[in-house]
Amino acid sequence: MLDTIVKNALIPQGDELVRANILVEDGKIVGITRKEFEAKNVIDAEGNMVLPGCIDSHTHFMDPGFTHRETFTTGCRAAAYGGVTTVIDMPCCSVPSVRGVPEMENKLEALKPQALIDFALWGGVTGEDVREEKHYRIVREQADAGVVAFKVYMTPSVPSYPRVTDPEMLETFKAVAETGLPVGIHAENFSMTDFYTQKFIREGRLDAPAWAEARSILAEKVAIELGISFAEEVGARLHIVHMSTGIGAQLVGEAKMRGLDVTSETCPHYLVLNYKDAMSEYGAFAKIAPPLRTEEDNEMLWEGLKDGSVDFVATDHAPYEIATEKAKAGMTIWTAFPGIPGVETMVPILVSEGYNKGRLTLSQLVDVLSRNAAIHYGIYPKKGAMFIGSDADFTVIDLDREWVINKEDQQSMAKYTPLHGMKLKGKVVKTIVRGKVVFDEKKGIVATPGYGQFVKRQTISKLDKVIRFSSVNDVF
Ligand SMILES: [Zn+2]
Repeated sequence: MLDTIVKNALIPQGDELVRANILVEDGKIVGITRKEFEAKNVIDAEGNMVLPGCIDSHTHFMDPGFTHRETFTTGCRAAAYGGVTTVIDMPCCSVPSVRGVPEMENKLEALKPQALIDFALWGGVTGEDVREEKHYRIVREQADAGVVAFKVYMTPSVPSYPRVTDPEMLETFKAVAETGLPVGIHAENFSMTDFYTQKFIREGRLDAPAWAEARSILAEKVAIELGISFAEEVGARLHIVHMSTGIGAQLVGEAKMRGLDVTSETCPHYLVLNYKDAMSEYGAFAKIAPPLRTEEDNEMLWEGLKDGSVDFVATDHAPYEIATEKAKAGMTIWTAFPGIPGVETMVPILVSEGYNKGRLTLSQLVDVLSRNAAIHYGIYPKKGAMFIGSDADFTVIDLDREWVINKEDQQSMAKYTPLHGMKLKGKVVKTIVRGKVVFDEKKGIVATPGYGQFVKRQTISKLDKVIRFSSVNDVF
């Protein structure tokens, strides 16, 4: 008998939702059909929308090393509650930070027993590695070990993960270009953000919006322009992580039109919050880098998701401990740590404010939540697709359910969010990873830690291999 059937699913076919049953064997899709099948495990989607498992390709789950903020398990819990079936975790927020294969293996050892959902890893390379002339070696070794991309910071972040100067960034681009992987940059011009931060501090500004004003739209614009120039020069695949500005979308769109391999992601908070309102209300709980921007940027980024200049969304989930890192006695907007949780609210926000409000079509929703990131990071069509042979990862969403984001309800250890109080229409009711329910809204988390698997970057030849699984498919 068949392993598992996901029945009464409304699955996306272009811009239409069609009713189907999804047949699963060994964690993979083996059929999509209108026919009824007997199965050992029956998962009833109850007529809800079933998307290919959503991917958050930008998380900082803080493990190992910063587990007072988040553990990999609590991060995975939050992800599963939010309908995310795969996360791609950043290299900087662990002890030690990942800047080579030994650190990567150390991190994997810590994460594997805790994983509730599947995960891939970003690789790391820093300015210090360039100065020590080991960047080519560590980049090559991590690429061979299966990381999906490399991350560099133009501004200081974690002390053990030093930023790159401009020429050091150019050198990292050269090294990463040789692997064929994307290089993601935190795009803010350091000397500009530093100058205005020092100036505002000297002037005695302590209002929360000052944080955003010190890190201007222009500082992101010129950083992206430099990144594009460098990528064009050396043939690197440039990716702008957590892009916050409308002008950024314009620049990436223009680079794409010129045929350059430049991509970008934005985050839900850059689509629905503006700095004046959110920082005035939530102070350090809305402090992130790059900062929140304006309503005009919100709209331009939605446009970017529609026209493809913004390739997908991710969260930059970076939780901090309230008592010691966000609201310690004497802390100011300048000294509180920058970062907010987000993995749990990404899918509902995109469904509610994107699809349900008509800003995104169904196919655009699937592209920005699942498909595009999977392709970009080389894990497609194992992830990000509903092909015969793809992993049976699904996000089940009740499109009509109305609810309100509550900071206290979050599964993340960080019980704060500038999205607190936001009314949404559309809620995740089940999260399914490789044919097994991991989250069910009636039961909570039903998988055990260790179920989640490490996903290495695939090669494109895997696309051919899925064809041979073809068995039952009378829907597509
Ligand atoms: Zn980040």
